[in-house]
Order: sequence, then structure tokens, then C-alpha cells
Amino acid sequence: VTADLAYRRASLEHVGGFDERFPRAYRENSDLALQIIGAGYRIVQGRRTTRHPVARADWMVSVRKQAGNADDALMRARYGRAWRTRARTSPTSLLGYLITCAFLVGAAAAVCRGRRRGSLAFGLGWMTRTACFAARRLRGSRRTRREVATMIVTSALIPPAALAHRVRGEIRVQRDARRGRPAHRRDTARAGVRAVLFDRDGTLVHDVPYNGDPSVVRPVDGARTAVARLRAAGIGVAVITNQSGISRGLLTRSQVDAVNRCIDREVGPLDHWFVCPHDDGDHCTCRKPAAGLVHRAAASFGVRPSECVVVGDTGADVEAAAAAGARGVLVPNRRTRMEEVRAAPEVLDDLAAVVDRILAR
Ligand SMILES: [Mg+2]
Repeated sequence: VTADLAYRRASLEHVGGFDERFPRAYRENSDLALQIIGAGYRIVQGRRTTRHPVARADWMVSVRKQAGNADDALMRARYGRAWRTRARTSPTSLLGYLITCAFLVGAAAAVCRGRRRGSLAFGLGWMTRTACFAARRLRGSRRTRREVATMIVTSALIPPAALAHRVRGEIRVQRDARRGRPAHRRDTARAGVRAVLFDRDGTLVHDVPYNGDPSVVRPVDGARTAVARLRAAGIGVAVITNQSGISRGLLTRSQVDAVNRCIDREVGPLDHWFVCPHDDGDHCTCRKPAAGLVHRAAASFGVRPSECVVVGDTGADVEAAAAAGARGVLVPNRRTRMEEVRAAPEVLDDLAAVVDRILAR
């Protein structure tokens, strides 16, 4: 992933470079890559082959490497549980380690209480799991006597070491948060936000397909507060919404406008509203995932798309952001597809979290 990688200077300046809270490979690279993608840039794969020899190391290296688990706590706090999927790194064995350690603790507890059968059962469980782990790690190796011994000993040490480092990392994240140092840094990147462009249905209000009736408008929890906080911080707020029902003859423009006025009263006021009335067959340049609405909204604030954050509940919203060079944040709901979540550069649980991140200094 990171042996041979080049970034443009402008992209590094945009996101503020490496976060020095990550002292070890490879999380600092994953963090930087996710920040870069989140800022609307792309990382492309080239064709050069790079030789990256394995460095000489002593037999305890695999145990020491578990220190990286402490950094995983910060990655999770920053990007959510799916950060490994988004960073395309291999899944962690933390749950497996937890089970192995539980057997070990169970065996020790049974020994202390004089329960011979219990200690045997738990001990056998721990030995089986450790042996399987060692066997997996030995797959494809030369299996010299020394190598086998090293793998058996380190396979017993890795699970408790990994868990201890992870707990240490979680404590550090909590402690930093209490000291006013949230997981989300990037003052440099966040400082550039001048306008937030919300999707309407499924983001600011609960989605009622082709709704032309203001009486069924139901704002999403926290929408009003989110808009108010952004306005109070001097950040522009607008809505960019696809309303293909107009093109399909299911809605009139005046019905859409009536619903929009109602939403503006319920969660706003919002500075601007932009509606795409077209359907896919109209081949317009404004229907998300096209960039037209984002460009128009940015222009209405007199800012660049790169200074805007698009917040929506579908892949089309974040794709429109990327197409315009804006930052896209996905706030999934029950209808958001898992592929859209995986593909999104930034995913947050709710609108409050979006505003927290935008306003983080
Ligand atoms: Mg939507």
C-alpha cells in the first residue's frame, strides 16, 4: 500500500500532512489517504514495481508490532468501525485474540479455585487456539526448528499484547477527548469549510417518496440544531435535492416548493434551495451524482466547491460532491446501501457528528 506512493504537494497542504499522533506504520498512511480522499482528491494506482525487502528483525518483532493496535483506537474514533474496509486494509483478529485470552483467564481462574477439570478444559481451549494461530503463521515458511519455536512462543504472547495495546489506545482517545483534544484533528482542512450543502430527503427530513404534501414532513432528529449551529458559526447552509417526480409528472413544481417552504420553517432558515426537477433520461448536468447543483450552490455563496461540504444519505450525494471537488459526507440511514457506505470517503452517524467535525478546531 505505502511502499511507493507519491502525493501532490497541494493535496498534502490541503489536509495538513501526516497526523503525528500516529507514530507507526501503517495507520499514519491509512489516515493520510482517507483524509486526502475525503478532501475530494483521488489516489490512483500506477504500474511501477517496487522491491521492498523485509528488514532483518529479532524474534520478538511480531509481539512488539502489536503496539500498532493502540493506533487502531484513534482510527476507529475518527472514521468509525468500518475504517479498515474504507482503508482497504486486512481485518484485525481482535475478537479471536479476545477469545484466546478468555480461555487463558478461565484456566487461571479454575486453577486458583482448585477446579481441575475446568482448568484442563480452559487450558486445552487456549492451547488449541494458540496452536492453530501458530500453524496459520507458519504456513508457507521454512519451518526450521528455531522458526517453529519462535512462532509457538510469539503466538502465545501476541493475543494478550494486542489486547493490552488496544485498551491503552482506547484510554488515550478518551483522555484526549476529556482534555479537549478530539479524535478529529485537521484544523487546516476543516478551517476551509464555508458552506454546507444538505441533501433533503433522508438527510434533513425523513424520506417520503415523491412527497408533495407539507403535512407529512418530518424532520430528522437533530436537523434543526445542526443547521442552527452552522449558521451561528458563520457557515452557509443550503439544500441540494433531486426531485425527479416533477419530470415524471408525479409532482408539480409548486408542490415541491410548498414542501421546501415547510422544511425551511421546520429546520431552517436555510440560505438557498436548489432543486433538480429532471429524471435520468433528461441527461441534465444537475441531477446528482452530477456536479451541477453543487457548483450552483457554491456560486450562490461566492465560494469554491472545495470549500463546501455535501451531506447526504446516498452514494449519489457524495459522488456529486466528488465530481464538483467538494467534500462529501455520508450519513447513512436504513435505506442506504452497504456498498454506498463502503465507497463513501467520510461516513458519520448523524448530523450532530457532521457539525462537530466541521466545527472542530
Ligand atoms: Mg436523500
